[in-house]
Amino acid sequence: MAESNEKKRLPRLALPANARLETLAVREGLPASQWGENAEALFLTSSFTHPDAATAAARFAGEEEAFVYSRFTNPTTMMFERRLAALEGTEAAIATSSGMSAILLMIMGLLKSGDHVVCSRSVFGATIILLEREFGKFGVETTFVSQTDIGAWRAAIKPHTKLLFAETPSNPTTEVCDIAQLADIAHGAGALLAVDNCFCTPALQQPVKMGADLIIHSGTKYLDGQGRVVAGAICGSDQLINGTFMPVMRGAGMSLSPFNAWVVLKGLETLSIRMAAQSANAMKLAQWLEQQPAIDRVYYPGLPSHPQHALAMKQQNGSGGAVVTFTVKPVQGADAVDKQQALRMAAFHVIDCTKLCSITANLGDTKTLITHPASTSHGRLSEDQRLAAGITQAMIRVSVGLEHIDDLTADLACGLDSLNI
Ligand SMILES: *Cc1c(COP(=O)(O)O)cnc(C)c1O
Repeated sequence: MAESNEKKRLPRLALPANARLETLAVREGLPASQWGENAEALFLTSSFTHPDAATAAARFAGEEEAFVYSRFTNPTTMMFERRLAALEGTEAAIATSSGMSAILLMIMGLLKSGDHVVCSRSVFGATIILLEREFGKFGVETTFVSQTDIGAWRAAIKPHTKLLFAETPSNPTTEVCDIAQLADIAHGAGALLAVDNCFCTPALQQPVKMGADLIIHSGTKYLDGQGRVVAGAICGSDQLINGTFMPVMRGAGMSLSPFNAWVVLKGLETLSIRMAAQSANAMKLAQWLEQQPAIDRVYYPGLPSHPQHALAMKQQNGSGGAVVTFTVKPVQGADAVDKQQALRMAAFHVIDCTKLCSITANLGDTKTLITHPASTSHGRLSEDQRLAAGITQAMIRVSVGLEHIDDLTADLACGLDSLNI
């Protein structure tokens, strides 16, 4: 009988067919338990019991979808996965212990020795190390190309290229790459396109709509949004998530803890209003920075002066996002030994004069965070590597939070106005 062979699946919520992102962000998940809780429950349990041995056997054999062990499935974690997949517009998602372990899981699931990856040179530093150094050891070859040079991506394709990997906008220089064009190149080569959507989140950018196959998230950033936990996820088709990545997760165990999943799940409920408010603040800050005499250049996709402004507006729902980067002019002074040092002194001065902003290299918090990329997130690169990536000693990155814009500009004005330029 066909019916009895059908896999028993976990129930789904009955949400309106065309429910919008804001609705899905507060509603998608799993049905409530028999107690009828309104807020999603936190299931802190490592394993799940079964009514009898035969049911346990059916669940272990995969004939019946049920919760077995929290290394691979847990109701709270699944609520987060379903909700994030709904926001990204993918069939499924799999939660991981961090953004980096999402990338690790993706590479382990998709690639084998002899395979080739084309990756933007401007992706998160740890991603470059993971691909180049760690997976280089296992015979996975990566070619790093310019974020915005579409010809370079095309030229880097080899017969055994399996994956294109991009992050847009990039950190900290906010370079934007064309997702639809990269998807065409990937698919023409029989490869997949993965996009790290950390900076925009699905509230501003849905890469699958432009042809991306996989979306990578660090839940640590805007998805949680309040700097509380480390988390990650991959979003994609049911076949890739449950067919390709779930078996790797069962064996390798880079699982997200249910507690952290619950924190990020609740963070998603305010994602769209936070992204809208923080991006509006960032736009005002970027416009104000452009007017300041001590500023050399402002990097913000929402500004018409940004080299990929038009593309960013098209891809990012008309928003520049909430990260603003800028460079200051060098301090004039006898003790400024060389130009790079003078630039660093100026940047440090502006950072040290702030009283509201948190000095930390994280991003995506409701609090405004300020950092000097050249000596923190990109401090392990040589000066030449940094300059090739467009990162100078004069550069300051601000992850704009929810404080009042006038308080933020006053906080930055303190250092900018006292720079001896
Ligand atoms: C932070 C970050 C990561 C890594 O995420 P973790 O949660 O810190 O492991 C990956 N990509 C981008 C763009 C990030 O900002």
